[in-house]
Amino acid sequence: MGVYIISTVLFCGGTLKEKAGIGAWIFKDMTVSATDFGVMCISAAYPNINMKLADSRDNEGQQDGNDAKGGLAGTVVSAVSTDDEKKPEPVVFGDDPAVLIIHTHATESYLPTSAGNYHTKKAENTVRDVGTVLAQTLKDEGIASVHDQTLHDNPSYSQSYSRSYETAQKLLKKYPSIKCVIDLHRDAIASDSKAATISVGGKECALYSYVVSNAVPTYSANLKFIKQMNRTASDEYSGFTGKVLERGYRYNQDLSTHYMLLEIGYNRNDISEARNTAKVVGKVLADTLKAGY
Ligand SMILES: [Zn+2]
Repeated sequence: MGVYIISTVLFCGGTLKEKAGIGAWIFKDMTVSATDFGVMCISAAYPNINMKLADSRDNEGQQDGNDAKGGLAGTVVSAVSTDDEKKPEPVVFGDDPAVLIIHTHATESYLPTSAGNYHTKKAENTVRDVGTVLAQTLKDEGIASVHDQTLHDNPSYSQSYSRSYETAQKLLKKYPSIKCVIDLHRDAIASDSKAATISVGGKECALYSYVVSNAVPTYSANLKFIKQMNRTASDEYSGFTGKVLERGYRYNQDLSTHYMLLEIGYNRNDISEARNTAKVVGKVLADTLKAGY
């Protein structure tokens, strides 16, 4: 327990230092307070610290961005909007799905939905909303998919990854045609400023990134596929590629050789900007899969 507390404090310190250095070029007027940590996911600004608190998925669930707020895990959970929804069945877009879309942190939201510290059970303006755009784009491009909208981060953030592992494993068994798994999140910034966008084809798009686990046997295969995604994006979208971040946690990425932990935008992006990015990434993924990768 003592090791855990000390490690957590070090992690937070590293995060703050790192954010000031790397995040500053994207976001002006950045300030950090304790309450801001509640919106964190796997921030692009996080240091690559390979802490091994325990070799279990449950602990890994706390080691992504939520780890940065230390003992406040329960605070975020209780802050989730009380607008409840029933657990929806996975939506299947087309026959013989090739792609599975899930959300380990399904309640993560974008502007204008800032209630509950950017977490809500309602689907609108969340990563599930963006996942639907991604699935629809894939379908329009001739790639069928399954979109699961289970709230794995509710009622608690701890064990989110254990829950999403079970969901993904079950759906991979049910739909053996699935080749690629996407765990779709959004990132977070501790700032009141809007997050950056890039204009792509006249549309304002949120930035995106891939978090690749280097702690699983499928690491090389997953990284190879993501690099191919970026090659496709470079060719088709003039360099609108996703930043690749390697981390020492598994994030369930041993489930597939085509596993993507995809972070589309930030809590301080407008939902329209995240949807626009989902359309781009959907086309890139469809073209990459159709090219045989
Ligand atoms: Zn997340």
